[in-house]
Amino acid sequence: MTETRSTCPYCGVGCGVIIQSEGAQITGVRGDPDHPANFGRLCSKGNSLHLTAAAALAPQTRLLQPLQRAQRGATPQPLAWDAALHLAATRIADTVQQHGPDAVAVYASGQLLTEDYYVFNKLTKGLLGTNNLDTNSRLCMSSAVAGYKATLGADAPPACYDDLQHAGCLFITGSNTAWAHPVLFRRIEDAKAANPALKIIVADPRRTETAEIADLFLPLQPGSDVRLFHGMLHTMLWEGWIDSAYIERHTHGFDALKTLVREATPERVARDCGLDMQDVLQAARWFALGGAVETTAQRAPTLSLYCQGLNQSSSGTAKNAALINLHLATGQIGKPGAGPLSLTGQPNAMGGREVGGMANLLSAHRDLANPDHRAEVAALWGVDDVPAQPGKTAIELFEAAADGQIKTLWIACTNPAHSLPDQATVRRALQRAEFVILQDAFATTATAAYADLLLPATTWGEKLGTVTNSERRISRVRAAVPPLGQARHDWQIATQIAQRLEARLRPGQPSLFAYDTQHAELGAEQIWNEHRASTRGRDLDITGLSWALLDRAGPQQWPLPEGAQQGQARLYAEGVFPTADGRARFAAQPWQPVAEPRSARFPFSLNTGRLRDQWHGMSRTGQLARLMAHAPEPALQMHPQDMERQRLQPGQLVAVRSRHGQLVVPVQADAGLGLSQVYLPMHWGSEYLGGRSHDGQAVGGVNAVTTPAFCPQSKQPELKHAAVSVQAVELP
Ligand code: SF4
Repeated sequence: MTETRSTCPYCGVGCGVIIQSEGAQITGVRGDPDHPANFGRLCSKGNSLHLTAAAALAPQTRLLQPLQRAQRGATPQPLAWDAALHLAATRIADTVQQHGPDAVAVYASGQLLTEDYYVFNKLTKGLLGTNNLDTNSRLCMSSAVAGYKATLGADAPPACYDDLQHAGCLFITGSNTAWAHPVLFRRIEDAKAANPALKIIVADPRRTETAEIADLFLPLQPGSDVRLFHGMLHTMLWEGWIDSAYIERHTHGFDALKTLVREATPERVARDCGLDMQDVLQAARWFALGGAVETTAQRAPTLSLYCQGLNQSSSGTAKNAALINLHLATGQIGKPGAGPLSLTGQPNAMGGREVGGMANLLSAHRDLANPDHRAEVAALWGVDDVPAQPGKTAIELFEAAADGQIKTLWIACTNPAHSLPDQATVRRALQRAEFVILQDAFATTATAAYADLLLPATTWGEKLGTVTNSERRISRVRAAVPPLGQARHDWQIATQIAQRLEARLRPGQPSLFAYDTQHAELGAEQIWNEHRASTRGRDLDITGLSWALLDRAGPQQWPLPEGAQQGQARLYAEGVFPTADGRARFAAQPWQPVAEPRSARFPFSLNTGRLRDQWHGMSRTGQLARLMAHAPEPALQMHPQDMERQRLQPGQLVAVRSRHGQLVVPVQADAGLGLSQVYLPMHWGSEYLGGRSHDGQAVGGVNAVTTPAFCPQSKQPELKHAAVSVQAVELP
């Protein structure tokens, strides 16, 4: 039996795992006791990785060789890798030359490794000349990115997991950490056990398992987060709990924010948020003073943990910024136990942000809008320029494809025909695009049915490279078994297509993609070295983090510049921020309610999210009985009083209708929900939920009913709220 150190491929906690294998079979996993994210612990999903890997090996789920569809709807037929790569490159180059580079788009994934991301980013923005590269991280983290940049000046979470041990107050908002980041939640439980004085506040419209650990639970109305944070700041100002010296020395813009929150009295805020006024006051006190202390002189640290409840919103950036404002106003940042720590949903959404793998980002936290940054990246890549025009973000990209603007769509390691909102538009886009390339490990996704060319990619256990978790910690991902069938690594596929594209788009010039595709470990290291060189002098400088150091010293947090011996646990200890003048900025953004308020026709607020034991569209976790046992079928959760009012029985089928579509699902009672609120897990797709758009397309899945409304700054869609009706289905 061989043991290989790697990283869990699910959530942004980024737990270290040791993979046990015999020959080409993964036979077991255990938590890596030396990994600083989990110290040997794994959750139910992590503990089942060897079983889902075995299930993934089943020929009926894995894509084992390149396949081509002669026409849509036909059974795809095998073709050789060389022919498949040639076909992909030819169609992309033809599109660029006939319609311009913006007629090509790449839609990728926060499941990709940093090296995969790097090559896709360079290929799209450097070689093709379009910024049309976006990823499903847009559904997950883009509001956190925009919130950090708007206030602290860079997309850099300033705190770390160890801060749990130092905090006097923990503010968990918009995160069911117990289910979505289970191993981190174990660390929260440990912190509470070690420090009974630790005060935990949980703000969430649902009373989740996370709320069970709270000293104060705030069941706020959906979309009222900014209102709550403004009310807390108003209270802090009134009570004299702010840190005026910190504000004076290290920030800008407090006066405008003060003016904005002047009318946010606790009475009004409590009414708008559906909360008890005393609870708003208590939350403000504990947050500002860092727990149950009496004066600012005794101030203890406050750490915030937050996730999709803030991010997946039509005002996601304002929510993130309003929370960070609280940290700046109270000086709760840059010291042990304090700071705003956003939790990443996917395992490497952070790595993707680092290489600039989104439509509005550039390598190493450079800005697309900055001509100097574009010139720096062009010089690093050896190209003439990087286009200034921002690319299309996820929702915009599929809307453009549905309008016929995107001719060739290349999708890697994600399933937009399940996960994006407004599925009617997404399906139209996939049908209308003239050529769809899908690069994935799994052949069974809803998106696979639309692909003209399917390219088999490696998956966890076979892949190698790096990922970055929520606390900026970079870990190695290592291969324990060889690729199954003819699968290749995502960066290898992108590189091999890029090399063929160069023959058409840059004939006779030296290759920009001279990575060793024959020796995967070497090729991945070459890409890593190019990426880390691009970070020189930037806030995330990792020029000192060689592949050898990662192997020798284990996972490291950025920054780790040349000469440093180890990474940096927390940022902004000196109160100097990566802005032009070194000061953080208060973002005075007003409270905006949800995009689709409840109405007489659609009287319920639909919230969507994860279950404890499932992952995304269940490509992996849905294969395993032991994980399915936690929730064997989808169900709409509803407050028992609402069920009674609607004359619904548990298990009864209901039709959920929104302005966008409808689906059918059994209903279940959940007293943890507020009245007029319902909750539906995001995992089940078309095959389980009889969904339809209003134009009659079968679209299924929870996203038959979600809204395409998105935050105007981060472009992250509002997956946490749609107004719906719920009615019993009359069976014939
Ligand atoms: Fe994997 Fe997240 Fe569970 Fe850790 S907490 S084992 S990273 S799913």
